[in-house]
Amino acid sequence: MTDRVLVLNLGSSSLKYRLLDGATGVAEATGSVERIGEDSATLMHSVGGHDHTEERHVTDFEDALRSALDAFDRHGPAIDRDDLAAVGHRVVHGGDLFAEPVVVDDHLLDTVEDLVPLAPLHNPANLEGLRVALRLFPDVPQVAVFDTAFHQTMPEHAYTYAVPVAWREKHRIRRYGFHGTSYAFVSRRAAELLDRPVEDTNLVVLHLGNGASAAAVRGGRSVDTSMGLTPLEGLVMGTRSGDLDPAIHGHLHRELGWSLEEIDRALYRESGLLGLAGANDFREVTQRRAAGDEAATLAFDVYAYRVRKYVGAYYAALGELHAVVFTGGVGQHSAVLRAAALDGLSRLGIVLDAERNEARSSDARFVSADGSAVAVLVVPTDEEWEIARQALEVVRGAQ
Ligand code: ADP
Repeated sequence: MTDRVLVLNLGSSSLKYRLLDGATGVAEATGSVERIGEDSATLMHSVGGHDHTEERHVTDFEDALRSALDAFDRHGPAIDRDDLAAVGHRVVHGGDLFAEPVVVDDHLLDTVEDLVPLAPLHNPANLEGLRVALRLFPDVPQVAVFDTAFHQTMPEHAYTYAVPVAWREKHRIRRYGFHGTSYAFVSRRAAELLDRPVEDTNLVVLHLGNGASAAAVRGGRSVDTSMGLTPLEGLVMGTRSGDLDPAIHGHLHRELGWSLEEIDRALYRESGLLGLAGANDFREVTQRRAAGDEAATLAFDVYAYRVRKYVGAYYAALGELHAVVFTGGVGQHSAVLRAAALDGLSRLGIVLDAERNEARSSDARFVSADGSAVAVLVVPTDEEWEIARQALEVVRGAQ
């Protein structure tokens, strides 16, 4: 019996894939197709330490997936379709319908289609990916793993917005949260590192990548998270504002005559670090801050302060806290951000060790001081492995 899983992650104009062993996480090949539908797409296929890159026109998702399969044929490893346990798909929005991964069938496709209004940017691409993969791998089980699923355990008081109750009942307006696959992976790894049973471990997890969010995790289950109906709410991100006064929408409309599309665009694409400092890459912001750039310094301070507020809020939500866990590109690599976000929290029992925090490593590790009542951990996330692991579990469970 094979544990090989092909994981597919389709964005609005990109495909990322990884062929890996769902049980061990060992990857055989990874790749991506960027700028699908534009004049020239970049194809990258990485196998055995070699990157094979080429530019060519890729018309649509079907063409992208066929190009990826073609790269497997040319550069290896061979994907014998009998030797795939599953194809695992990242699906962004499962609404309140999916708390677990599911095997894809026609009914599931219809349901994901019904959820498009909740994720108009992401679900159509995910849906197309599911359809194309069903055509190309008709005999391999396809499993959808939802980014929202992990947060379906949130209590009602955490996911309910204080708006007319009909909004939720008729229009599904509530907090859903995202990055769930990452939280599932990181929470389990953190409990292992702490040497505690997951069921008895309380964590504040900070997933800080291009998109960024925080989650309060009690006993391996999400009890709150900073993203909401959409991935706009919460922390400061590369190009997204995170939390803001909802009345700003009306104000922009009245004062500047902006349409809803223009406002959405500004808050999703032109805000966050980019809006404040003119750069969405955290490395660049940090470098410019170190060189004395005022805009970059303010952007960094706003970012770090927002992280710190969520640590405090989720500590209070959990009551008892065993660890603060950093993950995502910024969380894993930026010692200076971790230090700024947690500075002066010793009265809350959170004490970093400067040397451990600054040491470079790609391993999951402690960065807190020995006497710190609350541990501080850095845990590299691996969403593809988590998708493969969950896909394998579903397929095995169904056999
Ligand atoms: P995505 O959300 O697209 O998966 P990542 O988790 O890879 O993104 O995070 C990307 C972010 O991580 C970028 O802002 C990048 O600047 C930041 N980052 C990566 N390496 C470092 C580093 N060494 N120091 C600071 N920030 C870093």
